[in-house]
Amino acid sequence: MTSLVVQTSFLGDVILSTPLIAELARRGPVDVLTTPQGAAILANNPEIRNAIPYDKRRADKGLPGFARTVSRVRQAGLSTTTGTGDFYTDAYMAQGSVRSALLVTAARIPNRIGFDTSQGRSLYTKRVTYRAERHHAERLWWLSMEECADQPEPQQVAPRLYPSDADRAAVDALLAQHSPNSSRRLVVLAPGSVWGTKRWPLYPELATRIAPLADVVIVGGADDSAGGDAILAQLPPGSGLNAAGRCGLLAAAELIRRGAVLVANDSAPQHLASAMGTPTVTIFGPTVPEFGFGPLAPHSVAAGHRGLACRPCHRHGPQRCPLGHWRCMRELSAGEIFDHVATILG
Ligand code: SF4
Repeated sequence: MTSLVVQTSFLGDVILSTPLIAELARRGPVDVLTTPQGAAILANNPEIRNAIPYDKRRADKGLPGFARTVSRVRQAGLSTTTGTGDFYTDAYMAQGSVRSALLVTAARIPNRIGFDTSQGRSLYTKRVTYRAERHHAERLWWLSMEECADQPEPQQVAPRLYPSDADRAAVDALLAQHSPNSSRRLVVLAPGSVWGTKRWPLYPELATRIAPLADVVIVGGADDSAGGDAILAQLPPGSGLNAAGRCGLLAAAELIRRGAVLVANDSAPQHLASAMGTPTVTIFGPTVPEFGFGPLAPHSVAAGHRGLACRPCHRHGPQRCPLGHWRCMRELSAGEIFDHVATILG
């Protein structure tokens, strides 16, 4: 059996697909069709034979890009098998769009397995129950199983990432530059999100509460760098490091691994922490952990405003609060989040 996992969603979804990939790798070679960012986060994964990039929003946009990608999938499948005429036997649709379903159908992969709720389900040859009540890592893992299978053990559905020696060296260099002799613990903050209403606004106040207990490290993309500087500007000199935009994705995972706690919005960094085993305080605003995207590392906490009738209001989180008041985030106090951090720090 040779499998292609199709996962072209957000970075967090890619990370949560790694238990599915691990399960399939026990049965035969696994390739993954994913975004360039997804390919970067899956680097060094010993369970993946090839990560095939599909830049559906830029280089591979539109019909020509679609056709190119079909051809890339055909070539990847054929060039790595040995003269027997084998090709991918199974496509696992971890991302459920019609476009993805059309792509694997056009690539002539005979078995196409996906959720019974996905938009592309009419093109699947096997539809698997979407277990809305389960964590998404487990839901995706179930794509590889029969409905009657036993419930998974926690380690079977734990995400996993593989930073390289170079990633570890990059983190060593960043930390040495920040504070070569510090033995203080690190609390990592990830204040960014692509969704406006998911960005909790009180990270600066939280950082000032944390600074007496631990050094504060900011992670995120280049877009989060200015916000990181603003957070650290509140702190005594030398008690913070802004790593946003200064390291690659797997180096960020390694940096999070070295943290005693991560505080993040409901976004990709919490899934990096789940893969690296770092206790996480995830701040949920317009979304809720019951959607299946909460933190998985031991001692983690899902924080959110209780008792707001409008919550949750969106599957991902709108850019602006539809009611205008944004109470789900504004009324979640820095004190409450700090208490969770302090409890984890012990
Ligand atoms: S409608 Fe409610 S849950 Fe949605 S963003 Fe506004 S305050 Fe938050």
